[in-house]
Amino acid sequence: MIDLKFIGIGGAYALTLGGNCAYLKDKDSLLLIDCCEDAALKLKDRNVFYNIKNITIAITHTHSDHVAGIGTLIWYSNFLLGIKPKIIKNSQSFELHMRKLLQMLGVEDKFFEFIEPSNVNVKECTLEMIPTKHTPILESFGIMFSDSDGKYYYSGDTNDFESIKNLVGDTQIKKVYCEASWESYNAHIAYQNLKNIKCDKLVLMHFEDDKLYKLAQDDGFNVAQISLSE
Ligand SMILES: [Zn+2]
Ligand SMILES: [Zn+2]
Repeated sequence: MIDLKFIGIGGAYALTLGGNCAYLKDKDSLLLIDCCEDAALKLKDRNVFYNIKNITIAITHTHSDHVAGIGTLIWYSNFLLGIKPKIIKNSQSFELHMRKLLQMLGVEDKFFEFIEPSNVNVKECTLEMIPTKHTPILESFGIMFSDSDGKYYYSGDTNDFESIKNLVGDTQIKKVYCEASWESYNAHIAYQNLKNIKCDKLVLMHFEDDKLYKLAQDDGFNVAQISLSE
């Protein structure tokens, strides 16, 4: 069973919750899901880098709350940990956009490489990057994890409530991590809709603000929690 740890559980401007960012650690391998501002510092403070020899980064899309910390993370990995991180190649065009973004940030090609999703294996789990609808100007992806127990979905940012509803209803899917906003704004999932599909396998994350995070807990949803240790 996949159990992600979170270092941030907020949306674009949820300053106190931090940009949504999760990880899985498996012996000497670390899979980071998105790279919030201060991701490197938050991981270091939690001792997550201890014994790590491989770092793989899955980026769901390039909105700032999901990618703002990637330059520092890549530099910290190379210069302090001696590790060249691997970035998952969600698609050909996504790789090009990421390369351009990193170039603009002044992060040289030699400090990272791309890896096909099919070559990623953490906690005996494979993953697929699945295109989703979020905003017309960016390619966005959800992540489907599979292991011997079943499948687990991580929504990334999405406005595709129908697909979340179908995944929650699918018996093969053991867990659905899903973003939550007060309204959809044509880019997100409205909390009101999530109330109609509330169940044990649904875990809410990427809260628009603290108030929504508190309300989801009061309403009895499973919610992602910011973990304070490794
Ligand atoms: Zn976001
Ligand atoms: Zn976004």
